[in-house]
Amino acid sequence: MSQLLGANDIKDGRRTWRLFMINISLVIILFLSGIFLGFVMRTNRIIEEQMIATARSHFKNIVLTRRWNAAHGGVYVEKRPGVESNPYLENPDIRTEDGRVFTMKNPALMTREISAYARAAGDFVYHITSLSPLNPENAPDEFERRALTLFEDGTPEMSRIDEKEGGTVFRYMAPLYVEKGCLPCHARQGYGQGQVRGGISVTFDISDIRRQMRTNKLFIAAASIVTVSILIVIFYFLVNRLAKKLADAQQTIARMAVTDELTGLYNRRHFHVSLDRELSRSRRYTRPISLLMMDIDHFKQVNDTYGHLIGDEVIAGVAGGIRQVTRLTDVAARYGGEEFAVILPETDGGKARDCARKIRKKIEAKTFMIPDGRRIQVTVSIGVASLAPEQLAVDDGAADALVGTADKALYEAKKAGRNRVAGA
Ligand code: GH3
Ligand code: MG
Ligand code: MG
Repeated sequence: MSQLLGANDIKDGRRTWRLFMINISLVIILFLSGIFLGFVMRTNRIIEEQMIATARSHFKNIVLTRRWNAAHGGVYVEKRPGVESNPYLENPDIRTEDGRVFTMKNPALMTREISAYARAAGDFVYHITSLSPLNPENAPDEFERRALTLFEDGTPEMSRIDEKEGGTVFRYMAPLYVEKGCLPCHARQGYGQGQVRGGISVTFDISDIRRQMRTNKLFIAAASIVTVSILIVIFYFLVNRLAKKLADAQQTIARMAVTDELTGLYNRRHFHVSLDRELSRSRRYTRPISLLMMDIDHFKQVNDTYGHLIGDEVIAGVAGGIRQVTRLTDVAARYGGEEFAVILPETDGGKARDCARKIRKKIEAKTFMIPDGRRIQVTVSIGVASLAPEQLAVDDGAADALVGTADKALYEAKKAGRNRVAGA
């Protein structure tokens, strides 16, 4: 039986499946990438919030310490060797009756000194600053200046991550408001209570966290690539299996649509389609074409004697004999009940008669055994019709003419006594 689904149909099917696979893969990639990206972003946000919370708590600590200091109007420490007086204060030193000297540590100086301690310990750095500092050392850097400007417009805090040569640092800054305790010293600068007087920035190293974040990102990226690959491979195998099953089912359906169930030969519908196709091929290539119509002789008797089931077996056996004699390029079909038709492309009348004789002999020689041990033999009558290329060129109703001529020849073969070939 010739190929039922053409090469183009199969190619189209493969293209459809490939497109389907590509689309599904894209959806999987986009979907999972989205999930993993969201995961990375969420993790980063949590870590950043954690950094802000840490910075805030440092800031609050120093503000509390300063408030304590300011509440006491500054605190005095003994001026032991190495302890300098604050040059920005008027009369910072006092001398006790027993001759010891104490010097005033106001909040600003205290902040600077604690910051120096923190810096020495390698933990974090505080920097007290203002847009109009008394001490030039307290001048803001670029980040602090921007933050201070924004604080004046009501921004409550600022933070950012800076990449530096030595690593990555997290910077945080919040404003300092003028409190009651500040006024004794700062009122002369024109500040009022509740005003933004400046701010304190907190800076600490986050190189380690950044490294961990990067590792985390790499790990998630690797996990997403592995997951996507595994999913696509699994999906590919499933789709492939499904495509194969579907292609098999399509082949089966296509075969069933053109096949006669009892004999396995082509059915009558396919016979007509094939005849038209073979006729136009013969016309185009100016080749002869022939047709055999055959009918089992006295078949009614077979049915009447042995029953229809045995009759069916005989019909199938005759079809088997036809198949053995004909070539792959011939189209052998069951035309009706116990009637068969064979299209013989590229075959002239003489060769068609030879083929018909071979079939007739083959069937005559066949013996059908039935379960009760009896043997049945049947014969066929065959009508042959043939068209030469020159007849094909002009004749549009060639198919009907060919079938009609073969039918007439079959009738003649029957009339002449059956089990014979007539026509062409
Ligand atoms: P002849 O062709 O030689 O003139 O005689 P015949 O007995 O074969 O005559 P006819 O063509 O009229 O009868 C064909 C019979 O084939 C009639 C019908 O019962 C039988 N037949 C048709 N299709 C089937 C089938 O599928 N199975 C069986 N068992 N019998 C069938
Ligand atoms: Mg008949
Ligand atoms: Mg018959």
